[in-house]
Amino acid sequence: MQQTTGIQAHAAVERPLHSFQTDDPRLRPIADKVLAGERLSGDDALALYASHDILAVGWLANHVRERMHGHKTFFNVNRHINHTNVCVAYCRLCAFGRKKDAPGAYTMALEQAFETAASGYSEAVTEFHIVGGLHPDLTWQYYLDLIAGLKQRFPQVHLKAFTMVEIAFLAKRAKLSIRDTLVALKEAGVDSLPGGGAEIFNERVRHIICDHKIDGSQWLETARIAHELGLKSNATMLYGHIENDEDRVDHLIKLRTLQDETGGFQTFIPLAFHPDNTPLSHLPWTTGFTDIKQIAVSRLVLDNFAHVKAYWQMLTPKIAQISLRFGADDLDGTVIEEKIYHDAGAETPQGMRRQDLMRLITEAGREPVERDTLYRPVTRTETTFTVAV
Ligand code: SF4
Repeated sequence: MQQTTGIQAHAAVERPLHSFQTDDPRLRPIADKVLAGERLSGDDALALYASHDILAVGWLANHVRERMHGHKTFFNVNRHINHTNVCVAYCRLCAFGRKKDAPGAYTMALEQAFETAASGYSEAVTEFHIVGGLHPDLTWQYYLDLIAGLKQRFPQVHLKAFTMVEIAFLAKRAKLSIRDTLVALKEAGVDSLPGGGAEIFNERVRHIICDHKIDGSQWLETARIAHELGLKSNATMLYGHIENDEDRVDHLIKLRTLQDETGGFQTFIPLAFHPDNTPLSHLPWTTGFTDIKQIAVSRLVLDNFAHVKAYWQMLTPKIAQISLRFGADDLDGTVIEEKIYHDAGAETPQGMRRQDLMRLITEAGREPVERDTLYRPVTRTETTFTVAV
């Protein structure tokens, strides 16, 4: 049965005069589906990955992106807070987590976390993105106090806190169900959840890259419960390590299936693997071709996700900018102090100013829209902002 896509046309963008062209015959039936607004199958997704006609794949993704958002391109003014890098999971994909007594290990006292939250920027932030390691000793109360303390000090700032992996870990520490853990965190002030920790759902791959994390079905189940409780989240996929195209397609389709059920995902963020300083450092970095194709395939397969983000920190600002013509409609934000991918060798700046993000967007011929975490437009003066609700 043919299924039409869940998110329908948005903006009036004048359609380009040129029509779809390809030298890859596998893409023709896929183009017919995309132009008719029909859902792509797993086999279609595999054909997209297999194609070297990046311009044709990108044309299709751009068509969908413009159908949904016109030229609008979203970004936010946010600050990352990584309260600890101490972690008991020892994922092979990771250069950030440390043993408690290892060089470079740190854990912020609550006051330190509040000071960090207030520092490093001159324009009011609309979001704190809060993720950290799975610390063996931090108490459940620490997390509640961290969130409540941030909410009390910065009531206007949206708290996007704790990956599904952290939620499952906290539930164990609190001796609560996942649902009750999320309820307590929501009551303390968590407004939504980031999308990290999904990596690749396939168990063979997960066993090698992050065998101490919750498995793929637990990640999805935690997201489902969060969505049921009214907490929106994002979703990620870490690509460019030992996974194959089938693993990527399986990952995307599992996310799409859950999104059909809950509608709770806001944004999909493909994350390029950074191998430096990880136990997988023998693997090569992703290439621009792979990065751009991943953005495009994500946009085409995830027809029920409103947004696909080109996370400039991982892709580099240059590739992220190009991605705005290959399916992406969001660049993430100012970030201010990125630690996780810089420990893994990222050479991008640790933060970017609002005007630099806007320049990347306008030079790509797009219309910059500052958003809050829930994609409501933000208007601002130098030190204050208003969210259109
Ligand atoms: S990826 Fe996350 S859970 Fe895994 S070791 Fe790093 S910080 Fe810990």
